[in-house]
Amino acid sequence: MAGSGIFAEIIGGDVFNYYSDGQWNKSSSGKFVPIINPTSRKIHFKVQACTQEEVNKAIESAKVAQKLWAKTPLWKRAELLHKAAAILKEHKAPIAECLVKEIAKPAKDAVTEVVRSGDLVSYCAEEGVRFLGEGKFLVSDSFPGNERTKYCLTSKIPLGVVLAIPPFNYPVNLAVSKIAPALISGNSIVLKPPTQGAVAALHMVHCFHLAGFPKGLISCVTGKGSEIGDFLTMHPSVNCISFTGGDTGIAISKKSAMIPLQMELGGKDACIVLEDADLDLVAANIVKGGFSYSGQRCTAVKVALVMKSVADTLVKKINDKVAKLTVGPPEDDCDITPVITESSANFIEGLVMDAKKKGATFCQEYRREGNLIWPLLLDNVRPDMRIAWEEPFGPVLPVIRINSVEEGILHCNASNFGLQGCVFTKDINKAILISNAMETGTVQINSAPARGPDHFPFQGLKDSGIGSQGITNSINMMTKVKTTVINLPTPSYTMG
Ligand code: NAP
Repeated sequence: MAGSGIFAEIIGGDVFNYYSDGQWNKSSSGKFVPIINPTSRKIHFKVQACTQEEVNKAIESAKVAQKLWAKTPLWKRAELLHKAAAILKEHKAPIAECLVKEIAKPAKDAVTEVVRSGDLVSYCAEEGVRFLGEGKFLVSDSFPGNERTKYCLTSKIPLGVVLAIPPFNYPVNLAVSKIAPALISGNSIVLKPPTQGAVAALHMVHCFHLAGFPKGLISCVTGKGSEIGDFLTMHPSVNCISFTGGDTGIAISKKSAMIPLQMELGGKDACIVLEDADLDLVAANIVKGGFSYSGQRCTAVKVALVMKSVADTLVKKINDKVAKLTVGPPEDDCDITPVITESSANFIEGLVMDAKKKGATFCQEYRREGNLIWPLLLDNVRPDMRIAWEEPFGPVLPVIRINSVEEGILHCNASNFGLQGCVFTKDINKAILISNAMETGTVQINSAPARGPDHFPFQGLKDSGIGSQGITNSINMMTKVKTTVINLPTPSYTMG
């Protein structure tokens, strides 16, 4: 159960504590932030509402702890990360239970998220040892006008304090994807978890605490992003921000100081279906890609662009599969579970109603109870409908029928997003040309968009973000190059 067993010290009364300076604390604010269970729509957990002073203290402790941590041998940093990963995986059940209650993640997927997170931490430790264990050696006489009198040694050094802000949909996985590369590189970390998902994140942080990381190196401050967010992101002692979420990221990038930013933002991932595609494969991928975790994934298929000649057959195949999706509570491991908040459900409903008014074909009846929205495929969507462009983050998927591949590419590239896209065809040459033409960070050929495996590079273009992630890229981004140049005396003679 949440907050029991090895996790007993992370809760005081009925409010979960925040983590700073190596211990679990109650906020002096005397206030808490309620976490609403998306299924029952009632308060399920409470977390501390940290004050600015407490946030400040956490950042300042992180600054002090980082100096020593940077001098800790790489293999020792890796050892502690492996230990944290093992504790995390061993205690997957209570953490997964939090994900079920806080963010209505289907029970099995919740366990998968925790296990995947443990694997990510271990992989990152391994990769860090190899990647950071190497440097460069350059000699000067390769550049015109220089003698062989300068030897240049480069290595990678940490940035300092990394601020990690993950979103609600993967509060554990997208937190460790920032924490692990930061720590292996010799940085300290201040985590601001999403409100929905904060309790799962606090449990995860406790696994790092139990692994024995030095005091102050890791902090987890809770509170509403709208209340402590600016204070955190504009803090002068923060040396790097790794953020995943929606438009908030664009605002942060305008306000933050001159520090490295890793922004993983929204997407409107397009799926282009050609006439020669294997339509059974396409249908399976569109249903999995569009409706897993009720469409609340950055890499969900968010618009299907289907060649007219195969659209009738494909839509029927998709509908047959949609009819088999189970709808209900996350505890029952249903495919479609309630979306995160009532305002999200209202937003999704607004997109659906706009499409209805403008003449989209509803393949299923639109149905909603509280935050639970039944899966819906909208056919014959046209570019004048909001759903053709906006990210619903829910179980509703528009199909746009296209006359040519060029029309599909044009639609994809007209979006302000550019996260991922996918193309289905048996012609690999065509697929590569289409991939080249699509303005997205990644294109999947014959599969739905996906972030994993977590060591693959992952990046968005345009409003979908800046910087590239994936384990190695994140380690690279959270370090800078340090150069030492050895200057030799100018040779007064040449050796025969
Ligand atoms: P969000 O509303 O932007 O929130 C993301 C995080 O920012 C939360 O921790 C939130 O805290 C915090 N926050 C809010 N206001 C802030 C402020 N002023 N300063 C600093 N932090 C602030 O996004 P979300 O609804 O959680 O997640 C859904 C979005 O994330 C979608 O657009 C999705 O596409 C995107 N996403 C992108 C990726 C990717 O890799 N590209 C992956 C997953 C999700 P509170 O919860 O306390 O408000």
